[in-house]
Amino acid sequence: MAAVIGHPIRHTVSPVIHNAAFRALELDWIFTAFEVAPGRAAAAAEGARDIGLAGLSVTMPHKSDIVRALDRLTPTAQTLGAVNTVVREGGGQLLGDNTDGAGFLDALRTDEGFDPAGRRCLVVGAGGAARAVVVALADAGAAEVVVTNRTPARAEEAAALAPGVARAGTADEADGADLIVNATPQGMAGDLTLPVEAAALGPGQLVVDLVYHPALTPLVEAARSRGAAAANGLGMLIHQAAHAFRLWTGEDPPLEVMSAAALADLARRD
Ligand code: NAP
Repeated sequence: MAAVIGHPIRHTVSPVIHNAAFRALELDWIFTAFEVAPGRAAAAAEGARDIGLAGLSVTMPHKSDIVRALDRLTPTAQTLGAVNTVVREGGGQLLGDNTDGAGFLDALRTDEGFDPAGRRCLVVGAGGAARAVVVALADAGAAEVVVTNRTPARAEEAAALAPGVARAGTADEADGADLIVNATPQGMAGDLTLPVEAAALGPGQLVVDLVYHPALTPLVEAARSRGAAAANGLGMLIHQAAHAFRLWTGEDPPLEVMSAAALADLARRD
């Protein structure tokens, strides 16, 4: 059994994605969601340990808090100081990993055919998702990663995770970027604000909005209308879940099944 903890958790797509995958592979697994109040992540991890949960997904606001309750972290989780996937290892030890960056890169390469090696990237936002993306892009050989954020000091902190490649900058730098990533909630239901000026977007660029609901975010719409390629955050969501699935079950994740289940679930919400 596996589960996701978060707050609020009611709208999570994770159970739909993982349960569809378990069913497709006829695995005797089930995935559920637990509402865990802020500050209670460590207690929830202990509970998961006691009841023998094989896997845990961790979402807002627990990704940093849960770290202290785990026995071991992967180097990525260590660098980010944040965990989105917990794996129960032999002896009941809990390993913390962070699959957000790997999921983001898989979505870029597999779904969009974009290799970040040698490319100029702009990341808007400096929270957990942005930090995972900054480190992943630097590890993938990006020539430059500019980080811009509403609170500039946090952009400096995020850029410091990838010294020599990332630096803090401004949204104006979208103009010269090959890849632009929105890692803020701007564009979520009802929010029509754009994280970068539409005029900075154009042919030859790939724009990725980590927001995936609505599917057609204002940024994706603006990018496409100006001739840029664009994708929402569903690819990252599926691929980070796929990494977790593989860590828990040791099986190859059925990506198409997972993606179709998520799309159907999100469509029902519209
Ligand atoms: P987070 O840690 O809370 O960080 C939020 C970031 O957005 C911060 O940099 C914050 O700036 C900025 N921000 C918040 N409201 C803003 C506004 N109105 N205008 C401008 N900037 C604003 O959140 P997170 O976990 O990184 O998530 C960020 C986004 O990515 C969310 O929309 C989330 O749903 C999405 N996400 C998607 C996936 C996926 O798989 N597709 C995975 C993770 C996250 P300050 O520093 O100034 O507060």
